[in-house]
Amino acid sequence: NQDLLSLQHVSYIYSPGTAYEKVALDDVNLSLGKGEIVGLAGHTGSGKSTMIQLLNGLLKPTGGTVTFEGKDIHAKGYSGNYLRSKVGMVFQYPEHQMICDTVWEDVAFGPSKQGLTGEACETRVEEALRFVDLPEKYYQASPLQLSGGQKRRVAIAGVLAMHPEYIILDEPAAGLDAAGKREIFDRIRRMSREQGIGVLLVSHSMEDLAEYADRIIVLDDGKKILDDRPAQIFAKRETLADCGLDVPETVKLADKLRANGYQIPQNVIREKEL
Ligand code: ADP
Repeated sequence: NQDLLSLQHVSYIYSPGTAYEKVALDDVNLSLGKGEIVGLAGHTGSGKSTMIQLLNGLLKPTGGTVTFEGKDIHAKGYSGNYLRSKVGMVFQYPEHQMICDTVWEDVAFGPSKQGLTGEACETRVEEALRFVDLPEKYYQASPLQLSGGQKRRVAIAGVLAMHPEYIILDEPAAGLDAAGKREIFDRIRRMSREQGIGVLLVSHSMEDLAEYADRIIVLDDGKKILDDRPAQIFAKRETLADCGLDVPETVKLADKLRANGYQIPQNVIREKEL
């Protein structure tokens, strides 16, 4: 099931053949499957946003192939609408894309574009809003009246209402306080575990990825440098430092304890991947 969504030798060059030519992604291979949370890390300019735009078809690779369910998404006759309903994307600050007068209409936008009407559409909207735990009193409110965390929940509900197989989240906790951040990440984890949805989580925070990702990908200057379980990733201090990435404080602390002869309980190690 790892091959739900994949990049095969994918490259992307901005403004090719001009003085502004920039190789943003260079020969990247990647396999993404259901039910797994994959973290995408990398310094600013490493190619993260280029990669996620390639994965949901917003950009077309200048080299290589992007596949969904084993099919080339840029093959003649392939439906971009189908892809975008199966691979949902929640952008950083999704509130900028909320265009409807009410929360309900905003969440209904996707399913109605999929052709759902009446009760079928209403059920989707209600299920999604319940899943993200948005209080009912906000269903008819304007999205603009909500708090930052509530807006993120509405954006996630809007994607869930389309019954996607895969969700890409670009810095879903940007601008939220610690409590709001934890709440949104816990919800994302529940969504992945309970509904088997695959998640690609873009984050600059290694702390957040250490806690929530099952696997981490590190990009540096358009190349995929690492692709492994968190514990393996954090063992590669020098590589991370070369990519301008931090090792989480929890991992540093665990190392310090070990160096001083302390043992860390097995259950803590498993849970936090120290
Ligand atoms: P990240 O999301 O990790 O910050 P990006 O994918 O945005 O990285 O950028 C990768 C590289 O491509 C950077 O060097 C960036 O300057 C360049 N780039 C991004 N968008 C454009 C664009 N529209 N035109 C030219 N270069 C771009």
